[in-house]
Amino acid sequence: MTEQSILEAIGRLDGMLFINGAFRPGAGDPLPVENPATGQVIGHIAAATDAEIEAAVQAARRAFRPWAAELPKTRAAALHRLGDLIAADAPSMAQIMTAEQGKPVNEARGEILKLAEACHFYAEEATRVHGEIVPNDQPGFQSLVVREPIGVVGAITPWNYPAELVGWKLCASLASGCTIVIKPAEITPFTALAIAEKCLEAGIPAGVVNVLTGKGSQVGQALVEHPQVDKIAFTGSSAVGLHIQQSCPQVKRMSLELGGNCPMIVTASADVAAAVKGAARRSFRNCGQICIAINRIYVHRSVYEEFLAGLGQAADALSVHDGLTHPAADLGAMASAEPLAKTRTHLEDALARGARLIAGGKAPEGAEYAKGHFFRPTVVADCTHEMLVMTEETFGPLVGVAVYDDLTEAVELANDTPYGLASYVYARDLTEIHALSAGLDYGNVAINNVDAGIMNAPYGGRKQSGVGYEHGREGLLEYFNFKHVRLHHGVGA
Ligand code: NAD
Repeated sequence: MTEQSILEAIGRLDGMLFINGAFRPGAGDPLPVENPATGQVIGHIAAATDAEIEAAVQAARRAFRPWAAELPKTRAAALHRLGDLIAADAPSMAQIMTAEQGKPVNEARGEILKLAEACHFYAEEATRVHGEIVPNDQPGFQSLVVREPIGVVGAITPWNYPAELVGWKLCASLASGCTIVIKPAEITPFTALAIAEKCLEAGIPAGVVNVLTGKGSQVGQALVEHPQVDKIAFTGSSAVGLHIQQSCPQVKRMSLELGGNCPMIVTASADVAAAVKGAARRSFRNCGQICIAINRIYVHRSVYEEFLAGLGQAADALSVHDGLTHPAADLGAMASAEPLAKTRTHLEDALARGARLIAGGKAPEGAEYAKGHFFRPTVVADCTHEMLVMTEETFGPLVGVAVYDDLTEAVELANDTPYGLASYVYARDLTEIHALSAGLDYGNVAINNVDAGIMNAPYGGRKQSGVGYEHGREGLLEYFNFKHVRLHHGVGA
């Protein structure tokens, strides 16, 4: 796609809301959306007004009973169609994502294709959800445990994975029989609106899917407070997640996928080259703007310098470019000025407290980078828990490395944050592997790999990293209520 055709594709969605099966121009104040690699304004969102929020919630309400009553195979067919349409349009959807988020086009296309995969996964799961008949306490009775969709879902999402984080909630809603009102992040609205276009093409009935744009504090908060929204599915920072939980005026189902500060442990028995490769990938992909990014690494003293030298080289070898003009770059621009500023603050803090700079530490130089939010992948060593990089989520291309001598101490340090999302281990010794997988207080532990999440397994955090799950059967069950039907049929009474 040329720059002109990307702007045209975005132009179709500019200022639009998707309510009750139709796109309409939003009546609210426009907010600009920028390409983070160039600073160019690529479009606008309209901040949804109270009337538009009400229209979307009421459309979802009206659509709920008929959609829930559809046969699971009908909902599954819609999801399969949606998955096919998204996959077919992945090249142009990826360009839209890169223009608003900054990640290189190839990486964005991978994300879109994974969303298509999620559609097919949930289509299959839709037909497999079933209740149970459980043992009873008296003759003549039968207890049926029935699963019923919760109702209207308010989905509030961040900007780092503009397709998948919207898509997982959308797929689970469609599969379960819920309806959904989506509020994407302010800076990445067009990917969500492009997904809504695909829902329209897939023939998903009016009102089942709605997209509202606008500020979290206004539009997101309105969904949280709306008595007709039955569940909030939120992905974002721990601070906003906690605020949502505390400010919701009704008792409401919630799944909260929140922040992380994810550790990696490299033991004396590790394949160091594999650990370096894994660390470089999971620390710097998407510029480290990943809730499950590796933020801090504890390395056994016997392999510490070897690991540092390898990771420094690997970081220096990564390319940083405008993700539209260099689709295969390793890193694109960071999504906005905010995560870049936080990265710089965490780096300065670490260096001021005695950390050793191993790689990066600055923006790349040259005219290409002058107007965008770019930063080189950065490694700092000899870190301690006095440093922000080791205890707070950086959400940028910065990783802190520390040395350890004793595995128990390494586990204690790894668990020493308020977060509990993902953790990583490189080791070959089975005793070490067992001790670490049992000892790490995290929802996900990846051993000798860095892909903590797959569609088939539950994905969720502990402590301040959240409640509830996405992915897997467990993720789908978050969209159901149980109903116990106790039936007296008299037989055997
Ligand atoms: P954020 O919490 O600032 O915003 C997330 C969403 O919440 C946005 O749509 C925003 O508009 C909305 N929002 C803000 N205030 C609100 C309010 N008062 N009421 C309702 N909605 C409100 O997060 P962000 O900066 O967009 O994203 C980065 C964060 O997301 C990081 O902390 C990252 O770890 C987290 N994240 C977590 C996961 C996970 O699976 N656990 C995945 C991706 C990102």
